[in-house]
Amino acid sequence: MDPIRIAVVGVGKIARDQHLPAIAGNKAFSLAATVSPRDPGVEGVPHAKSLDELIANGPAIDAVALCTPPQVRYDLAVQALSKGMHVFLEKPPGATLSEVVALESRAEKVGATLFASWHSRFAAGVAPARAWLSDRKIEKVSIVWREDVRVWHPGQAWIWEPGGLGVFDPGINALSIVTHILPRPMFLQGATLEIPANRAAPIAADIEFRDTAGAPIHMDLDWRQTGPQSWDIVVETDEGTLKLSNGGAVLTLPSGTEHAEDMEYPGLYARFASLIRGGRSDVDVAPLRLVADAFLRGHRKLVDEFHD
Ligand code: NAP
Repeated sequence: MDPIRIAVVGVGKIARDQHLPAIAGNKAFSLAATVSPRDPGVEGVPHAKSLDELIANGPAIDAVALCTPPQVRYDLAVQALSKGMHVFLEKPPGATLSEVVALESRAEKVGATLFASWHSRFAAGVAPARAWLSDRKIEKVSIVWREDVRVWHPGQAWIWEPGGLGVFDPGINALSIVTHILPRPMFLQGATLEIPANRAAPIAADIEFRDTAGAPIHMDLDWRQTGPQSWDIVVETDEGTLKLSNGGAVLTLPSGTEHAEDMEYPGLYARFASLIRGGRSDVDVAPLRLVADAFLRGHRKLVDEFHD
Protein backbone atom coordinates (compact mmCIF):
# COMPACT_ATOMS: atom_id res chain seq x y z
CA MET A 1 0.00 0.00 0.00
CA ASP A 2 1.33 3.46 -0.88
CA PRO A 3 2.26 5.61 2.11
CA ILE A 4 -0.06 8.47 3.03
CA ARG A 5 1.62 11.71 1.83
CA ILE A 6 1.34 14.03 4.80
CA ALA A 7 2.14 17.72 5.29
CA VAL A 8 2.90 19.10 8.75
CA VAL A 9 1.33 22.56 9.08
CA GLY A 10 2.75 24.80 11.83
CA VAL A 11 6.34 23.84 12.51
CA GLY A 12 6.74 24.88 16.16
CA LYS A 13 7.60 23.08 19.39
CA ILE A 14 5.23 20.12 19.20
CA ALA A 15 5.77 19.54 15.46
CA ARG A 16 9.54 19.33 15.97
CA ASP A 17 9.49 17.46 19.29
CA GLN A 18 6.87 14.85 18.39
CA HIS A 19 5.14 14.94 14.98
CA LEU A 20 8.19 14.84 12.72
CA PRO A 21 9.84 11.93 14.63
CA ALA A 22 6.53 10.00 14.84
CA ILE A 23 5.93 10.40 11.07
CA ALA A 24 9.53 9.36 10.33
CA GLY A 25 8.98 6.25 12.46
CA ASN A 26 5.72 5.14 10.81
CA LYS A 27 5.88 3.42 7.38
CA ALA A 28 2.21 4.24 6.72
CA PHE A 29 3.24 7.89 6.18
CA SER A 30 5.72 9.82 4.10
CA LEU A 31 6.50 13.44 4.98
CA ALA A 32 5.59 15.21 1.73
CA ALA A 33 5.84 18.85 2.84
CA THR A 34 5.93 21.30 5.72
CA VAL A 35 4.08 24.61 6.04
CA SER A 36 5.05 27.41 8.41
CA PRO A 37 5.20 31.19 8.03
CA ARG A 38 8.66 31.68 9.61
CA ASP A 39 10.16 28.28 10.33
CA PRO A 40 12.30 27.03 7.40
CA GLY A 41 11.03 23.42 7.61
CA VAL A 42 13.09 20.26 7.16
CA GLU A 43 16.08 19.92 4.84
CA GLY A 44 15.20 18.04 1.65
CA VAL A 45 11.41 18.30 2.20
CA PRO A 46 9.32 20.81 0.16
CA HIS A 47 8.32 23.78 2.30
CA ALA A 48 5.66 26.49 1.89
CA LYS A 49 4.96 29.59 3.96
CA SER A 50 1.20 29.04 3.89
CA LEU A 51 -1.30 26.31 3.11
CA ASP A 52 -2.51 28.43 0.15
CA GLU A 53 1.01 28.36 -1.28
CA LEU A 54 1.32 24.60 -0.72
CA ILE A 55 -2.00 23.91 -2.45
CA ALA A 56 -1.09 26.20 -5.38
CA ASN A 57 2.51 25.11 -5.98
CA GLY A 58 3.38 22.13 -3.79
CA PRO A 59 3.46 18.36 -4.27
CA ALA A 60 0.34 16.15 -4.00
CA ILE A 61 -0.82 15.76 -0.40
CA ASP A 62 -3.23 13.19 1.08
CA ALA A 63 -3.32 14.43 4.68
CA VAL A 64 -2.30 17.33 6.92
CA ALA A 65 -1.33 17.44 10.59
CA LEU A 66 -2.37 20.84 11.94
CA CYS A 67 0.13 21.74 14.67
CA THR A 68 -0.62 25.47 14.78
CA PRO A 69 -2.15 27.33 17.73
CA PRO A 70 -5.88 26.51 17.98
CA GLN A 71 -7.11 29.96 16.93
CA VAL A 72 -6.11 29.48 13.27
CA ARG A 73 -6.90 25.79 12.95
CA TYR A 74 -10.50 25.93 11.69
CA ASP A 75 -9.74 27.84 8.47
CA LEU A 76 -6.77 25.59 7.72
CA ALA A 77 -8.87 22.47 8.31
CA VAL A 78 -11.65 23.75 6.04
CA GLN A 79 -9.13 24.51 3.32
CA ALA A 80 -7.57 21.02 3.59
CA LEU A 81 -10.94 19.25 3.69
CA SER A 82 -12.11 21.21 0.64
CA LYS A 83 -9.23 19.55 -1.25
CA GLY A 84 -10.28 16.12 0.07
CA MET A 85 -7.33 15.86 2.46
CA HIS A 86 -7.56 13.93 5.74
CA VAL A 87 -6.98 16.13 8.78
CA PHE A 88 -5.19 15.45 12.07
CA LEU A 89 -5.99 18.17 14.62
CA GLU A 90 -3.56 18.76 17.49
CA LYS A 91 -5.28 19.29 20.82
CA PRO A 92 -7.39 21.25 21.57
CA PRO A 93 -9.27 20.53 18.32
CA GLY A 94 -10.40 24.14 17.95
CA ALA A 95 -10.86 27.48 19.63
CA THR A 96 -14.62 26.87 20.02
CA LEU A 97 -16.87 23.83 20.27
CA SER A 98 -19.09 24.87 17.39
CA GLU A 99 -16.22 25.09 14.91
CA VAL A 100 -15.19 21.51 15.74
CA VAL A 101 -18.75 20.28 15.24
CA ALA A 102 -18.86 22.14 11.90
CA LEU A 103 -15.59 20.49 10.84
CA GLU A 104 -16.91 17.06 11.73
CA SER A 105 -19.91 17.39 9.45
CA ARG A 106 -17.79 18.91 6.67
CA ALA A 107 -15.37 15.94 6.84
CA GLU A 108 -18.29 13.54 6.65
CA LYS A 109 -19.69 15.37 3.61
CA VAL A 110 -16.42 15.19 1.66
CA GLY A 111 -15.63 11.63 2.80
CA ALA A 112 -12.34 12.55 4.51
CA THR A 113 -11.01 11.50 7.92
CA LEU A 114 -11.03 14.04 10.75
CA PHE A 115 -9.00 13.03 13.81
CA ALA A 116 -9.31 15.22 16.90
CA SER A 117 -6.25 13.91 18.70
CA TRP A 118 -5.75 13.74 22.48
CA HIS A 119 -2.14 12.69 22.94
CA SER A 120 -2.43 12.09 26.69
CA ARG A 121 -4.97 9.32 26.07
CA PHE A 122 -2.08 7.40 24.47
CA ALA A 123 0.15 7.70 27.57
CA ALA A 124 1.25 4.26 28.76
CA GLY A 125 -0.84 4.07 31.94
CA VAL A 126 -4.12 5.26 30.48
CA ALA A 127 -5.48 2.13 28.75
CA PRO A 128 -4.77 -0.14 31.77
CA ALA A 129 -6.24 2.52 34.10
CA ARG A 130 -9.44 2.59 32.04
CA ALA A 131 -9.68 -1.20 32.12
CA TRP A 132 -9.07 -1.35 35.91
CA LEU A 133 -11.70 1.33 36.63
CA SER A 134 -14.36 -0.05 34.29
CA ASP A 135 -16.13 -2.20 36.90
CA ARG A 136 -15.25 -0.30 40.10
CA LYS A 137 -17.24 2.17 42.15
CA ILE A 138 -15.64 5.63 41.94
CA GLU A 139 -15.64 7.43 45.30
CA LYS A 140 -13.49 10.50 44.72
CA VAL A 141 -11.09 11.90 42.12
CA SER A 142 -8.30 14.45 42.50
CA ILE A 143 -6.47 16.03 39.55
CA VAL A 144 -3.38 18.14 40.22
CA TRP A 145 -1.74 19.68 37.15
CA ARG A 146 0.86 22.21 38.32
CA GLU A 147 3.69 23.30 36.05
CA ASP A 148 5.97 26.25 35.35
CA VAL A 149 4.64 28.15 32.32
CA ARG A 150 8.04 29.80 31.80
CA VAL A 151 9.61 26.37 31.28
CA TRP A 152 6.92 24.76 29.12
CA HIS A 153 5.47 27.69 27.12
CA PRO A 154 8.21 30.33 26.91
CA GLY A 155 7.17 33.32 24.82
CA GLN A 156 4.00 31.66 23.43
CA ALA A 157 1.82 34.79 23.15
CA TRP A 158 -1.10 32.90 21.54
CA ILE A 159 -1.61 30.77 24.67
CA TRP A 160 -2.64 33.87 26.68
CA GLU A 161 -5.05 35.17 24.00
CA PRO A 162 -8.78 34.30 23.79
CA GLY A 163 -9.00 30.77 22.41
CA GLY A 164 -5.49 29.95 23.68
CA LEU A 165 -6.97 28.49 26.91
CA GLY A 166 -4.20 29.64 29.29
CA VAL A 167 -3.61 27.03 32.00
CA PHE A 168 -6.30 24.86 30.39
CA ASP A 169 -3.89 24.22 27.51
CA PRO A 170 -2.11 21.62 29.70
CA GLY A 171 -5.21 21.14 31.89
CA ILE A 172 -7.23 19.82 28.94
CA ASN A 173 -4.73 16.94 28.73
CA ALA A 174 -5.80 15.87 32.23
CA LEU A 175 -9.44 16.18 31.20
CA SER A 176 -8.78 14.09 28.09
CA ILE A 177 -7.53 11.30 30.39
CA VAL A 178 -10.24 11.57 33.03
CA THR A 179 -13.08 11.63 30.48
CA HIS A 180 -11.54 8.48 28.97
CA ILE A 181 -10.84 6.40 32.11
CA LEU A 182 -13.85 7.14 34.30
CA PRO A 183 -16.78 4.81 33.67
CA ARG A 184 -19.39 7.61 33.91
CA PRO A 185 -19.76 11.06 32.31
CA MET A 186 -18.77 14.06 34.43
CA PHE A 187 -19.93 17.66 34.54
CA LEU A 188 -18.82 20.93 36.06
CA GLN A 189 -20.35 22.34 39.23
CA GLY A 190 -18.22 25.40 39.86
CA ALA A 191 -14.86 26.96 39.11
CA THR A 192 -12.61 29.87 40.01
CA LEU A 193 -10.36 31.12 37.21
CA GLU A 194 -7.38 33.28 38.23
CA ILE A 195 -6.57 35.67 35.38
CA PRO A 196 -3.48 37.91 35.35
CA ALA A 197 -4.47 41.57 35.08
CA ASN A 198 -2.53 41.95 31.79
CA ARG A 199 -3.72 38.70 30.12
CA ALA A 200 -6.93 37.26 28.64
CA ALA A 201 -6.56 33.66 29.86
CA PRO A 202 -6.23 32.04 33.30
CA ILE A 203 -2.91 31.26 34.97
CA ALA A 204 -4.61 29.02 37.55
CA ALA A 205 -7.99 27.40 38.11
CA ASP A 206 -9.79 25.47 40.84
CA ILE A 207 -12.68 23.38 39.57
CA GLU A 208 -15.30 21.13 41.09
CA PHE A 209 -16.83 18.43 38.89
CA ARG A 210 -19.12 15.53 39.73
CA ASP A 211 -19.78 12.29 37.89
CA THR A 212 -23.35 11.24 37.16
CA ALA A 213 -23.31 8.90 40.18
CA GLY A 214 -22.37 11.80 42.47
CA ALA A 215 -18.63 11.18 42.99
CA PRO A 216 -16.75 14.47 43.54
CA ILE A 217 -13.90 15.31 41.14
CA HIS A 218 -11.57 18.16 42.10
CA MET A 219 -9.12 19.77 39.69
CA ASP A 220 -6.24 22.05 40.68
CA LEU A 221 -4.44 23.76 37.78
CA ASP A 222 -1.56 26.17 38.32
CA TRP A 223 1.07 27.54 35.98
CA ARG A 224 3.09 29.24 38.75
CA GLN A 225 4.67 26.03 40.03
CA THR A 226 8.44 26.15 40.29
CA GLY A 227 10.50 23.17 41.50
CA PRO A 228 8.91 19.72 41.18
CA GLN A 229 6.09 19.63 38.63
CA SER A 230 2.84 17.65 39.10
CA TRP A 231 0.71 15.94 36.51
CA ASP A 232 -1.21 13.53 38.75
CA ILE A 233 -4.65 11.95 38.82
CA VAL A 234 -5.77 9.99 41.90
CA VAL A 235 -8.95 7.92 41.78
CA GLU A 236 -10.29 6.45 45.02
CA THR A 237 -12.53 3.43 44.52
CA ASP A 238 -14.31 0.81 46.62
CA GLU A 239 -11.36 -1.52 45.89
CA GLY A 240 -8.44 0.78 46.55
CA THR A 241 -6.68 3.76 45.01
CA LEU A 242 -5.42 4.22 41.45
CA LYS A 243 -2.80 6.87 40.69
CA LEU A 244 -1.67 8.07 37.28
CA SER A 245 1.41 10.27 37.48
CA ASN A 246 3.78 11.95 35.00
CA GLY A 247 0.83 12.90 32.79
CA GLY A 248 -0.44 9.33 32.51
CA ALA A 249 2.89 7.59 31.93
CA VAL A 250 3.14 5.87 35.33
CA LEU A 251 0.27 3.82 36.76
CA THR A 252 0.10 2.78 40.40
CA LEU A 253 -2.55 0.28 41.44
CA PRO A 254 -2.98 -1.40 44.84
CA SER A 255 -0.95 -4.28 43.33
CA GLY A 256 2.08 -2.11 42.41
CA THR A 257 3.51 0.41 39.93
CA GLU A 258 3.83 -0.03 36.16
CA HIS A 259 6.22 2.01 34.00
CA ALA A 260 6.23 1.74 30.21
CA GLU A 261 7.88 3.44 27.26
CA ASP A 262 6.38 6.75 26.03
CA MET A 263 4.39 5.91 22.88
CA GLU A 264 1.95 8.85 22.77
CA TYR A 265 2.69 10.25 19.30
CA PRO A 266 3.54 6.91 17.64
CA GLY A 267 0.17 5.76 19.02
CA LEU A 268 -1.60 8.81 17.59
CA TYR A 269 -0.14 8.27 14.12
CA ALA A 270 -0.98 4.55 14.17
CA ARG A 271 -4.55 5.56 15.02
CA PHE A 272 -4.65 8.23 12.27
CA ALA A 273 -3.45 5.70 9.67
CA SER A 274 -6.06 3.16 10.73
CA LEU A 275 -8.84 5.79 10.64
CA ILE A 276 -7.82 6.83 7.10
CA ARG A 277 -7.56 3.23 5.88
CA GLY A 278 -10.94 2.45 7.44
CA GLY A 279 -12.64 5.60 6.08
CA ARG A 280 -13.58 6.80 9.58
CA SER A 281 -13.26 9.90 11.78
CA ASP A 282 -12.65 10.23 15.53
CA VAL A 283 -13.89 13.46 17.08
CA ASP A 284 -14.53 13.53 20.83
CA VAL A 285 -15.17 17.05 22.13
CA ALA A 286 -15.78 16.02 25.77
CA PRO A 287 -12.54 17.55 27.16
CA LEU A 288 -13.09 20.84 25.28
CA ARG A 289 -16.72 20.93 26.44
CA LEU A 290 -15.63 20.81 30.10
CA VAL A 291 -13.16 23.65 29.51
CA ALA A 292 -15.89 25.67 27.80
CA ASP A 293 -18.13 25.02 30.83
CA ALA A 294 -15.40 26.37 33.14
CA PHE A 295 -15.31 29.59 31.11
CA LEU A 296 -19.14 29.64 31.02
CA ARG A 297 -19.76 29.05 34.72
CA GLY A 298 -16.51 29.96 36.52
CA HIS A 299 -15.88 33.00 38.71
CA ARG A 300 -13.12 35.23 37.38
CA LYS A 301 -10.57 36.57 39.84
CA LEU A 302 -7.94 39.09 38.73
CA VAL A 303 -4.44 38.32 39.99
CA ASP A 304 -0.92 39.79 39.57
CA GLU A 305 0.24 40.61 36.06
CA PHE A 306 2.29 37.90 34.33
CA HIS A 307 5.42 38.74 32.33
CA ASP A 308 7.49 36.10 30.49
P1 NAP B 1 4.32 26.86 18.93
O1 NAP B 1 5.68 26.41 19.35
O2 NAP B 1 3.93 28.28 19.12
O3 NAP B 1 4.16 26.43 17.41
C1 NAP B 1 3.05 26.75 16.62
C2 NAP B 1 3.53 27.09 15.22
O4 NAP B 1 2.40 27.31 14.40
C3 NAP B 1 4.36 28.36 15.18
O5 NAP B 1 5.73 28.03 15.22
C4 NAP B 1 3.94 29.04 13.85
O6 NAP B 1 4.97 28.93 12.88
C5 NAP B 1 2.83 28.12 13.32
N1 NAP B 1 1.71 28.86 12.77
C6 NAP B 1 0.99 29.88 13.30
N2 NAP B 1 0.02 30.25 12.46
C7 NAP B 1 0.13 29.48 11.34
C8 NAP B 1 -0.59 29.39 10.12
N3 NAP B 1 -1.63 30.18 9.85
N4 NAP B 1 -0.18 28.46 9.21
C9 NAP B 1 0.85 27.65 9.43
N5 NAP B 1 1.57 27.69 10.60
C10 NAP B 1 1.20 28.60 11.53
O7 NAP B 1 3.20 26.00 19.68
P2 NAP B 1 3.26 24.47 20.11
O8 NAP B 1 3.73 24.37 21.52
O9 NAP B 1 3.94 23.65 19.09
O10 NAP B 1 1.69 24.16 20.17
C11 NAP B 1 0.91 24.02 19.00
C12 NAP B 1 -0.31 23.18 19.36
O11 NAP B 1 0.14 21.91 19.84
C13 NAP B 1 -1.16 23.79 20.48
O12 NAP B 1 -2.52 23.59 20.24
C14 NAP B 1 -0.72 23.01 21.73
O13 NAP B 1 -1.77 22.90 22.68
C15 NAP B 1 -0.41 21.66 21.11
N6 NAP B 1 0.54 20.87 21.91
C16 NAP B 1 1.70 21.43 22.37
C17 NAP B 1 2.55 20.67 23.17
C18 NAP B 1 3.86 21.22 23.72
O14 NAP B 1 4.52 20.53 24.50
N7 NAP B 1 4.31 22.39 23.31
C19 NAP B 1 2.22 19.36 23.49
C20 NAP B 1 1.07 18.80 22.95
C21 NAP B 1 0.24 19.57 22.15
P3 NAP B 1 6.12 29.99 12.57
O15 NAP B 1 7.06 29.88 13.75
O16 NAP B 1 6.72 29.48 11.30
O17 NAP B 1 5.47 31.33 12.46
